[in-house]
Amino acid sequence: MASVASASAPRRSWFAYMSAGLGLLALLGVLCFHFPQLLTSREFRATYEEGFARQLLLLGIVAAFILGTVAILRGRDRRVALLGVGSAALAVLLGGATVHFGRIESTPYSLGLDWFVISLFFSTIVFVPIERMLGVRDQSPLRPEWRTDLAYYFLSHVLVQFVLIAVTASTSTMDALVASQSVKQAVQSLPIWAQFLLAVFMADIFQAGLHRLYHRVPWLWRFHAVHHSSRHMDWLAGSRTHIVEVLLTRSAVLMPLVVLGFAPDAVNAYVVLVGLQAVLAHANLGLNFGWLEYLLVTPRYHHWHHARHPDYVDVNYAIHLPLVDMLMGTFKRPPPKTWPQEYGVMKLESVPRGLIAQTVMPVRAKKVFEDYVGREG
Ligand SMILES: [Zn+2]
Ligand SMILES: [Zn+2]
Repeated sequence: MASVASASAPRRSWFAYMSAGLGLLALLGVLCFHFPQLLTSREFRATYEEGFARQLLLLGIVAAFILGTVAILRGRDRRVALLGVGSAALAVLLGGATVHFGRIESTPYSLGLDWFVISLFFSTIVFVPIERMLGVRDQSPLRPEWRTDLAYYFLSHVLVQFVLIAVTASTSTMDALVASQSVKQAVQSLPIWAQFLLAVFMADIFQAGLHRLYHRVPWLWRFHAVHHSSRHMDWLAGSRTHIVEVLLTRSAVLMPLVVLGFAPDAVNAYVVLVGLQAVLAHANLGLNFGWLEYLLVTPRYHHWHHARHPDYVDVNYAIHLPLVDMLMGTFKRPPPKTWPQEYGVMKLESVPRGLIAQTVMPVRAKKVFEDYVGREG
């Protein structure tokens, strides 16, 4: 069915869609220069130079103009291309890459719009070509429900500071309750690489333990069902995570790292790894890693966790190390060299579509669990 539908659908102009994407991102980028205090996050700002952001913005504006103009001249997806050219023109009218701003005062709260714009730009140019070349499936980046997943991506990046504040508050409370200086000193006496490996192991134990609870406890499954409702797997699909799950999981994962007193370098290396592996695990990457699949969580390992298949939905909870599942007794070797036929929850109708409906779904108590997000087919 799906292949028939995609074969008969009109072919999209990638120039038009790239123009629209870049034009809109450029517009958001200009807004970041106008209101840096409000729209950019202090933590992320420290990782890049202002000159770099200006050059990136200029590049985005020029590329949106060129790609959009070509699409319009070729008569393909004109409205989408016009959106790109129009957004780029508005970005220029608003000052483009030359907007000046004074000293950025520190504010208690700000949004991470810069984090959204820059990470979406680089993730797209890295993952879209790789998935096209190495995909399990020939699947468009604009597959069904891409808007929903992009909305989750937007919110999780823009609200990054609020998530950090909530997670820091909960983990530091736990730290104050159970802090043991002797344990911290023992951990800190280890070399950084050993701290990093131990951090990955500890974080994955806590993550997988909580992940198993999401699957076993009915009212927790309601939240996690949102993540499992993706019917198409790609690098963006993993973004679909209920905000309650984001807060719970990040707190649970960071807690052992804070309580055990890992060095900041080890924690930072872990944060980079989890960001990368969480995206890769969902990516549409048809690679078979052979024996490495027993050592590290690969896309195939996590794709089988998302399979619409009763034998594989409640196993393989780890996100870094299959060893963690082996220790918990929840390891089930995915069938060799095969990929799931279908993704999603067993009762497809149980999870509504769209970010807002999915966000309120777990707290609406009108239906019983089995009506709503039951797992039996
Ligand atoms: Zn799960
Ligand atoms: Zn997942």
